[in-house]
Amino acid sequence: MSPVVAPRIEFSVMHLKPLSIERLCIHQVTLMQCDFLQSMETLARHGVTKTAIWRDKLDEVGVDEGARILRDLGIEVISLCAGGLLSASDPTDRRKAIDDNRRWIDQAAAVNAASMVTITGGLEDGSRDLRSARDLACQGIAELVPHARAAGVKLALEPLHPMVCGFRSVISTVREAGEMLRELDAPDVTGLAIDSYALWWDHNLEADLAEAAADILNFHVSDWLPQTRDIRLDRGMPGDGQIDNRKIRKWIEQVGFDGPIEVEIFSDLDWWKRDPDEVVSTIVERAKTVL
Ligand code: ZN
Repeated sequence: MSPVVAPRIEFSVMHLKPLSIERLCIHQVTLMQCDFLQSMETLARHGVTKTAIWRDKLDEVGVDEGARILRDLGIEVISLCAGGLLSASDPTDRRKAIDDNRRWIDQAAAVNAASMVTITGGLEDGSRDLRSARDLACQGIAELVPHARAAGVKLALEPLHPMVCGFRSVISTVREAGEMLRELDAPDVTGLAIDSYALWWDHNLEADLAEAAADILNFHVSDWLPQTRDIRLDRGMPGDGQIDNRKIRKWIEQVGFDGPIEVEIFSDLDWWKRDPDEVVSTIVERAKTVL
């Protein structure tokens, strides 16, 4: 007798709840053309109440002033971006990276961010040792765990697209990130940031997301432009490229995720050159149709 296979119940994309403005988060980096205050005022003008803070922008105003601006405008911070970059082997560089990350965790706590998006970093200059970079990053994140726990900030490990393996992240898939989380063994303070731009190409994504369901802390979206001109800084507006963001949202929601949908667009060649009001109004419109 052949084994009984449970029928697959399709959770129709049609049944996805429309994305409310309250659930929409726009990362500050999407408005790189603005200073800290302008970026947050632009979100507020369009009724967007959630953001993820870009730490270089926070450094420009300082954490006290940044926190005041956010409070005055009623904007909630989901994450601080981006920490980690812990794959160096030189002891001085490692010490500095750990110290920097502790400071960033404190900054995240000061603006009430629930998580710090954490990337591993790539290979050192001249290195060809992928495994060593991965293990050094894992040890570095492990060193941050007590500090993050004490600060009440979760470390959201973010796999990035394999094309940036050499210089940004030696972790490229949900599966590899999940293995690192198991090694860290700190599920109360570590989890995953899922970014559609980084992961959309992976045929195992739906299954891997189901397996990692309990670890998913953040969900970032943008789009993959078929003729991308820069692997890191030419992300597309949702709806302009090849990623089915709504389908990926379905995959994570059907396994329990109900957090914000976070638009994160690095666009040196296009959206960072436009009027910030145009950028935000376009995202608010696209949220209704493709997110
Ligand atoms: Zn991201």
